[in-house]
Amino acid sequence: MSTTQVRPTPARTKTKGYAAQSATSALAPFSFARREPLPGDVQIDILYCGVCHSDLHTVRNEWKNSVYPVVPGHEIIGRVTAVGDEVTRFKPGDLAGVGCIVDSDRTCPNCRAGLEQLCDSGFTGTYNSPDKHLGGMTLGGYSKTIVVDQDFVLDIREKHNLAGVAPLLCAGITTYSPLRHWKVGKGQKVGIVGLGGLGHMGVKLAAAMGAHVVLFTTSPGKKEDARRLGAHEVVISKNQNEMGKHANSFDFILDTVSAEHDLNSYLALVKADGTMVLVGAPENPPVVEPFSLIVKRRQLAGSLIGGIAETQEMLDFCAERGITSDVEIISMDKINEAYERMLRSDVKYRFVIDMATL
Ligand code: NAP
Ligand code: ZN
Repeated sequence: MSTTQVRPTPARTKTKGYAAQSATSALAPFSFARREPLPGDVQIDILYCGVCHSDLHTVRNEWKNSVYPVVPGHEIIGRVTAVGDEVTRFKPGDLAGVGCIVDSDRTCPNCRAGLEQLCDSGFTGTYNSPDKHLGGMTLGGYSKTIVVDQDFVLDIREKHNLAGVAPLLCAGITTYSPLRHWKVGKGQKVGIVGLGGLGHMGVKLAAAMGAHVVLFTTSPGKKEDARRLGAHEVVISKNQNEMGKHANSFDFILDTVSAEHDLNSYLALVKADGTMVLVGAPENPPVVEPFSLIVKRRQLAGSLIGGIAETQEMLDFCAERGITSDVEIISMDKINEAYERMLRSDVKYRFVIDMATL
């Protein structure tokens, strides 16, 4: 007798959202199905969803892995409306958060170490991943409701500024995790490259961890904001002279830039045995000169969001210190305009969709 378990197809309920039907089409209203909660599931009415540059990369198939229709959105804050029989951590009425990950194999060494983002089977993304319950692909948070296994749902302790909490679920954890992993703290000089959604959280978090923070920007108009957000110094990266003054001086640089730019000019600022970490993921691969690394034994690394336990740790860290994202709340029908503004680096510093407008 076979021991393979046949997964019953769950019942479905209708919801609505915004989807892109191809790499060249705008986001537009779209109706689709969510599963009814299974025993371990939490059903959530979405209140706010942040707008990440990864949403835009995926909608436009810039990473060459998009399967349409794409309903983006992985910075989700909502209220629980129903839970399955086995759910212990949430009840209807609770606030809940969902980030970039909604499932993983839970058995590989990385999952067992709490690093679901590094799951050897590939984690299930909140959107654009195979949906093992309904078939097709997972559909994200630019929508009214979502159903997620309780093990991937976050507890929200900050109850007031919910729009400002939403971006922590991706921009927050993506900057918090490398800052923690590379042990950024007091006495260290830390660079953050790019003042967008990720960058502004990187500035706030690195400052909260006690580092001396230098923000690199291409936008002179963001200088004052950068200081208000916690940067101790601001460098206009197009100015060679300003850049040169920081040569060989950084313990750590976090690069959050979403478009093509020269990594070597930042590597030159890292001191001996220091590290530069990429979280930004531009469409085209960068050129790294070997000598940028060889001299001064510099290290270049990457980092991907963070695990579920670390995401909770980051949310609690932020709640204790009153750290939230600086947001511009938009209605759902303004999303295509918001993408164009994001491409012009005209966002202060995260768009968040008010889902009541859908
Ligand atoms: P964003 O809000 O659009 O911010 C990107 C910032 O990069 C801009 O505000 C701008 O800052 C700077 N920038 C843009 N074009 C530039 C150029 N041509 N040269 C130099 N700087 C430029 O984007 P985001 O949501 O923070 O996401 C940033 C990147 O991280 C995206 O590629 C996204 O896909 C990726 N991401 C990665 C992870 C991960 O786990 N690794 C998670 C989430 C997102 P200034 O105006 O200050 O120069
Ligand atoms: Zn994101």
